[in-house]
Amino acid sequence: MNDTHLRTVPPDSRELVASIYEAVRGVAAAFPRSLFLQRAREGGHARELWDALVAADLLAIGVPEFLGGAGGGLTGTTAVMEALARAGVPPLQYSLTTFSREAILRHGSEQQIKDHVIATMTGKRKICLGVTEPEAGTNSFASRTTARRTADGGYRISGQKVFISGADESDHILLLARTAPQGEEVGRRKGFGLFIVDMSLPGVELRRLDIEWYAPENQYEVFFDDVEVPAEALVGQEGAGFDHLLSCLNQERVTVAAWALGLGHYALQKAVDYAKVRAPFGKPIGAHQAVQHPLALATAEMEAARQVMYSAAAGYDSGHDAGDQANMAKLLGSRAALAAVEAAIQAHGGSAFVYETDVVTLWPMVRVLQIAPLNNESILNYIGERVLGLPRS
Ligand SMILES: Cc1cc2nc3c(=O)[nH]c(=O)nc-3n(C[C@H](O)[C@H](O)[C@H](O)COP(=O)(O)OP(=O)(O)OC[C@H]3O[C@@H](n4cnc5c(N)ncnc54)[C@H](O)[C@@H]3O)c2cc1C
Repeated sequence: MNDTHLRTVPPDSRELVASIYEAVRGVAAAFPRSLFLQRAREGGHARELWDALVAADLLAIGVPEFLGGAGGGLTGTTAVMEALARAGVPPLQYSLTTFSREAILRHGSEQQIKDHVIATMTGKRKICLGVTEPEAGTNSFASRTTARRTADGGYRISGQKVFISGADESDHILLLARTAPQGEEVGRRKGFGLFIVDMSLPGVELRRLDIEWYAPENQYEVFFDDVEVPAEALVGQEGAGFDHLLSCLNQERVTVAAWALGLGHYALQKAVDYAKVRAPFGKPIGAHQAVQHPLALATAEMEAARQVMYSAAAGYDSGHDAGDQANMAKLLGSRAALAAVEAAIQAHGGSAFVYETDVVTLWPMVRVLQIAPLNNESILNYIGERVLGLPRS
């Protein structure tokens, strides 16, 4: 495959994206896919990957220059994620930290920005995201974790979150908790708070989930048992926590598309290399159109999704809501990447299932992106209702 990574990038962002790709090459050399898989298998972490991102100043991408960041906006963050995923080393923690700091940048106080956004650039702060609950699932309005005001003006947090990625590696969690009393009606602008909670506080407990995928980050149930936090832990306004969260979701949709498309590209590259040399009937299997066409189709679908992704990022960076395109990018990107991985598995035949071939190892992570952070059905609901104006189900 040709190196086409700049083709669907808007012309005025090509220099930025090219320089990010160059920097990521160094990161991937320091922490290659083989080490990523080894750490995943050991249930370990990817600390050196994070250190390499800091050393290359890539964690400063997406933080505005006036705060000491490297700028680059969502386009930059997207390129970092995509380039890492293309190299086979996408850190889930990158998606979580960039999302969390976006929420703090938009709604946090000056002090919160200093403590939790600036500190991420030097690797001093890692933030995980606590939204999903066992009962509520996709319906976060039904969340039961509560934050009650205390006499000293702080909050007492009780409840449980589930599937919290990187909870053991993160020093803070950006947590959605209900501030409205039980039984009171809640909504986008009513009844929730967004809190930045120190994970080392008494009452925070973790229980690891046994998740079948090949990445060095682990998932946890996180329990909050009367965890006392100061008033300064509240990000933005009490009651508007859900709204604050939603205002950043377009950022997340786009970085998730980048993650999917990067891994899809990695899978396709492997399939093409293999199809050029594997020749059980004398001719390379890549010469057979039954093998060639799924790879060609996935390439075309990924390019289309990538176009929408960079267009959404550019729209977001120029101050537009970009919600329609951000949702479409996540939908199209995750589907196209899955088609690419499926085609790569088929082209590899039985070898796809040999761990060392590193093909089936791509499937769980790309498959999960059809479900998390938001399932594709909910994205179709958004497009049906918000883009097409159809009635809500
Ligand atoms: C590996 C992994 C990492 C994760 N990391 C995090 C994290 O760091 N932080 C965090 O907060 N959460 C995290 N999650 C949780 C993830 O966001 C949820 O799994 C996801 O939002 C879906 O919730 P659920 O699993 O409860 O599915 P459910 O809500 O039970 O939905 C099940 C299925 O029903 C369908 N469905 C649900 N709602 C609708 C609807 N409105 N319309 C049509 N169909 C629908 C979909 O097909 C969906 O897959 C992670 C999950 C995984 C698997």
